[in-house]
Amino acid sequence: METEQIFPGVWEFRATYGRDTAELFTDGAMPHAAWFVAGDRPAILDPGPTSIAEELLDAIRKLGQDTDAIEWVAPSHIHVDHAGGSGWLTRELPRAKAVFHARGAPFMRDPARLIAGTAEVFGDSWRDVFGDILPVPDDRMAIVEDGDALDFGSGGAYRVVFTPGHSLDHISLYDEERGAFYCGHALGNYKPPRFLPDPPMTLPYFDVDASVASIRKARELAPKRLLPAHSGSLASNPAIAIDVVERVTLEIGEVVKGGMAAGKSDAEMETDVRAHLFADPAKADRSYMPVVVSYRRYYERRARKAAGA
Ligand SMILES: [Zn+2]
Ligand SMILES: [Zn+2]
Repeated sequence: METEQIFPGVWEFRATYGRDTAELFTDGAMPHAAWFVAGDRPAILDPGPTSIAEELLDAIRKLGQDTDAIEWVAPSHIHVDHAGGSGWLTRELPRAKAVFHARGAPFMRDPARLIAGTAEVFGDSWRDVFGDILPVPDDRMAIVEDGDALDFGSGGAYRVVFTPGHSLDHISLYDEERGAFYCGHALGNYKPPRFLPDPPMTLPYFDVDASVASIRKARELAPKRLLPAHSGSLASNPAIAIDVVERVTLEIGEVVKGGMAAGKSDAEMETDVRAHLFADPAKADRSYMPVVVSYRRYYERRARKAAGA
């Protein structure tokens, strides 16, 4: 696990673990960034899955910090790769409360549906990659809504920004003092030195329109720094990164919608998406098939809804 101090009292930890067996975000190991905010009310942001939780606590202790004092564990949303470790962490950390949006909390109170969804997407060997998913009891939860201010660290306000789309419960945290936007998976997936981010897609449920609205909400905050959970702090200009991910998210949507209207197969639409993004589609560094499937399913759901089915 790599450790980097990104602000006074704030550290970023970057880990890779297991393998993305669904090839959802990468064709190799899963990358993850988590953050620790030191102070009177220490907090972990986007802790990640159980499989890296112990290593994360060790890395925090190596900074000379007392992990028993940690008060907050704040995943951006309830997917195994971001929140999977919250149950284990609240058992391990005597004072910690896990921060969830109201829409996500039921999935951690009883993780049966989260476990089933994880197995569906990542296959039967998901525990080898992510570790187990333990429940978080009600008295160890802090339920938050858009606009709430969390007093992480020493008095600074971390504003809750509801950013659904990638998931129905996704929150980002905006450190207003530093202009730092901890955006989880809401603003897509950046894999430097790749020049294009992936849209904030996922399986089985990706909401394209809600994602675009969340990206626009982030732009309005004009953050000085973006901190996406799969790549860690980005040194690039956040305004450019936000513009690019909005455009990628919208344009892939147009390609898939056009393909569906023309009766194309997923494989044909996948070729179309690569041809749209890369001068030589063979130079795409991985398959866009999960991306295409996530869009197609969204448009199918939307059409069913519009038809009143
Ligand atoms: Zn996710
Ligand atoms: Zn993610």
